[in-house]
Amino acid sequence: MTYMEEQQNNLIQSNANEPEFIQAATEVLQSLEPVIQKHSKYRESAILERLIEPDRQIKFRVTWTDDKGNIRINRGYRVQFNHAIGPYKGGLRFHPTVNFSIVKFLGFEQIFKNSLTGLPIGGGKGGSDFDPKGKSEREIMNFCQSFMTELYRHIGANTDVPAGDIGVGSREIGYLFGQYKRLCNQHTGVLTGKNLSYGGSLVRKESTGYGVLYFLDAMLKASGKSIEGKTFVISGSGNVAIYACQKAQEMGGKVVTMSDSSGWIYDPDGIELEVIKELKEVTQRRIADYKAYRPNAVYHEGTGIWNTPCDIALPCATQNELLLSDAKELVKNGVIAVSEGANMPCNLDAVHYFQSNKVLFSPGKASNAGGVAVSALEMAQNSIRYSWSFEKTDRKLNQIMKDIFEKVSNAAEEYGLPGNYVAGANIAGFIKVADAMLAQGLF
Ligand code: GLU
Repeated sequence: MTYMEEQQNNLIQSNANEPEFIQAATEVLQSLEPVIQKHSKYRESAILERLIEPDRQIKFRVTWTDDKGNIRINRGYRVQFNHAIGPYKGGLRFHPTVNFSIVKFLGFEQIFKNSLTGLPIGGGKGGSDFDPKGKSEREIMNFCQSFMTELYRHIGANTDVPAGDIGVGSREIGYLFGQYKRLCNQHTGVLTGKNLSYGGSLVRKESTGYGVLYFLDAMLKASGKSIEGKTFVISGSGNVAIYACQKAQEMGGKVVTMSDSSGWIYDPDGIELEVIKELKEVTQRRIADYKAYRPNAVYHEGTGIWNTPCDIALPCATQNELLLSDAKELVKNGVIAVSEGANMPCNLDAVHYFQSNKVLFSPGKASNAGGVAVSALEMAQNSIRYSWSFEKTDRKLNQIMKDIFEKVSNAAEEYGLPGNYVAGANIAGFIKVADAMLAQGLF
């Protein structure tokens, strides 16, 4: 058995009931083979063995009361995965599917993503199986306060800095921050994604979606292509999808779909983003209601969004939303590029299919790194007690995404895999973290 096969076996055996984590780590292990072969130092210091085992996993009970006075119990999680290059950094996800497998896959991805930003942030992730859907403001506040009453002792501006993810937006961050402040009596940058009035950063809201487009632009240009005039299929209608759609339209693309957990809409005239914002950001309604505003649009219940012919696909909803059969359909319809806006939306088979059919493909840890990058800029602004303008922050984001593309592309080239941005992202992200681990001795 080779060393890499041993690592893969060990991964599967020690995390047997964590399929999403195994999937995310397998992809990284597959990419690192040439690096481990070239540099024996990583193997000698057991860097891979250490990297796939989190520094720390925290699980706690969250007890809160609903509006009827019933006592409710949920599970809270925080996985502090690796802090070789900076404080743990990564979002909190509130969704019924949250468990250790999900939090560990997200935290693991975050190590490499955060490294690629070039900013000093380690990898972590957390969340709860609490479902914010259908809860009142007061219930959400009760839950967030109780969640933070346990989490506060594990985090800090120089220790671990959570942010939002699915189900956690600026409202939840506000309640979490308020409770942290009550408990610690410190107004520090312990969370990112804050409102502008108490230390948030301009562009944070838009950053993940904008970043996806800045990365895509660099990737297309490197192949002599451009966004102008291209048809986009975007999934999701949350923060990432909304601002990816906005930037795609600004850059001359035509977006024809968006989706939510119940179904998807196809608008042949191009998505009217104001309607989506009204439905999703203001009134919290189903995307099915889009039709009432745009009679030419068609609503489809359930899946099938990837059957829509397009030049560019941006999966921006959630993990494993695009499978091999979807990849085949996209390739058949002539897709030229797929950039992940969500974390691990394409499964391994779909990714391999795109790559073997010469579709430009960027993994989430590279193309969606703009969100956490602006979070790190929020931390920087909090540290100097200052805020930068929208233009300045957006320029920095744009440059960071271009730099990520360069790093990813150069690493792929250096290891004899030109155009393989999955390998490039894993390799470039890994080397910085691994070298920092080597320099700091055993931990
Ligand atoms: N949840 C986002 C991500 O997946 C952002 C994390 C952060 O800003 O810390 O990268």
